[in-house]
Amino acid sequence: MIDIRSLEIKEICELSEALGEKAFRGKQISEWLCRGASSFGEMTNLPASFRAKLEESCRISGLEVLRRLKSKDGTQKFLYGLDDGNAIETVFMKYKYGNSICISSQAGCRMGCVFCASGKNGLSRDLTPGEMAGQIQVTQALCCGEGERISHVVVMGTGEPFDNYENVRKFVRLINQEKGLGIGHRNITISTCGIVPRIADMASDMPQVNLAISLHAPNDAIRRGIMPIANKYPVSELIDACRSYAEKTHRRVTFEYAVTKGVNDSDECIRELASLLRGMLCHVNLIPLNPIEEGALESPGRKRAEEIREMLESLGIPATVRRTLGSDIDASCGQLRLSQSSRDTI
Ligand code: SAH
Repeated sequence: MIDIRSLEIKEICELSEALGEKAFRGKQISEWLCRGASSFGEMTNLPASFRAKLEESCRISGLEVLRRLKSKDGTQKFLYGLDDGNAIETVFMKYKYGNSICISSQAGCRMGCVFCASGKNGLSRDLTPGEMAGQIQVTQALCCGEGERISHVVVMGTGEPFDNYENVRKFVRLINQEKGLGIGHRNITISTCGIVPRIADMASDMPQVNLAISLHAPNDAIRRGIMPIANKYPVSELIDACRSYAEKTHRRVTFEYAVTKGVNDSDECIRELASLLRGMLCHVNLIPLNPIEEGALESPGRKRAEEIREMLESLGIPATVRRTLGSDIDASCGQLRLSQSSRDTI
């Protein structure tokens, strides 16, 4: 069965013709998908005979709302059930510049970062391009009013996007289509734990898409203790790849740094971080660590994160402390999905 969500508009048009219909029917199908349709039955402007044919050969990958949490600040978190019983998280956020969404790229994750809840049960499977685009289509239909849309996308939910590169690349093509969701490359950010060869691939395949690197440490000794991927790619290689990326694309690289008490938050660490990044077109996004289990890694608090920001700025590295949205529906980074796996009812 062909998953129609994973097809570009021109491919849906070709499919319509192959099924004996006019090509423009493909555009109608795409419009329905963008409006969050989950079945061919809803597509009432298609002839019934065509809908029946579609049902025989195609499917629309499902995203069933298992849980929906609404914050006072407008943030909404969704736990979507997929057709095979996997569950993934999606977060909708309202910013001054528009509506933004954080999508998942895999069900689970095999990167094993010690501070992150998403990888605690390992990788279940890659998401298809359609399941990634579907998170935007369905969430937009649920959260946006008439004439309102999701304009910004971050691939920062569960999963490692560079461990599912080809599907992420097709996903970017899907959501960029002008007659589809129409999300510009400059409004898309892909965040990676640092699978180095894919950084150069991204620079040539989608040079306008923003790159964010989960760095979290200024050297291999600290990074290897919290991120297994650092055993494969040393910090020096990662930073070299980022420097080449910035030179080639003229795009600013974002470095995410989860500030963790006693691990990476000393003045010495921050000075080392500043010299590592000096001279690169970049920006550091400090995230006070969100603890995932009792008694393990801790946050030194927002005040320390602010001090670190000032220190970095004084050393010539632009830095911000990430705004925390949706703190009253706290379920960050895979926590919703984890809690679901130990729960029977919703
Ligand atoms: N695999 C990708 C994208 C998903 S994680 C990546 O590693 O970038 C999105 C961001 O949240 C990453 O920067 C990740 O390191 C960070 N993160 C994960 N768990 C966290 C936690 N408990 N507290 C703060 N940030 C966390």
